[in-house]
Amino acid sequence: MEKIKRIALVAHDTCKKDLVEWVEWNWQTLSQHHLVCTGTTGRLVEDALTRKQAEHKVMYPLNIVKLKSGPLGGDQQLGAMICEGKIDVVIFLWDPMNPQPHDVDVKALLRIIVLYDVVTATSRSTADFIISSPLFSKEYHEKPRDFSSYINRKIN
Ligand code: PGA
Repeated sequence: MEKIKRIALVAHDTCKKDLVEWVEWNWQTLSQHHLVCTGTTGRLVEDALTRKQAEHKVMYPLNIVKLKSGPLGGDQQLGAMICEGKIDVVIFLWDPMNPQPHDVDVKALLRIIVLYDVVTATSRSTADFIISSPLFSKEYHEKPRDFSSYINRKIN
């Protein structure tokens, strides 16, 4: 993982306010990395970072990719990016109290995150720990995942 991280930000509707607050709190750090968001989250993140930059009279180029909205396939697009090794960190504030129209996509995304050992926060305090880790701003050599025994398994 390079020094500049590729960070995915996703929040369910009831968690968006929390994520925006977190983004505002960490705007300087986040402005230095590549961001990938599901559609609606991406709009809010972009607004928050633009607002904070204007408040502080600075203009860092923002690097935000906006995928489709989660229920329209954004979680699946993000899952595909993880399979392709294009995401280093995921901040995913999902709502544990309400069913989502795309619950199956959420479950799939969480599975792929674990399968590919992606650094992930699913709560704000974990997100705080991740972003304040000394490793966040450094290169990091993760142990490559070895799927060879699965790929080469014998099928009768
Ligand atoms: P949204 O999608 O950012 O487009 O709201 C998030 C989600 O529900 O996965």
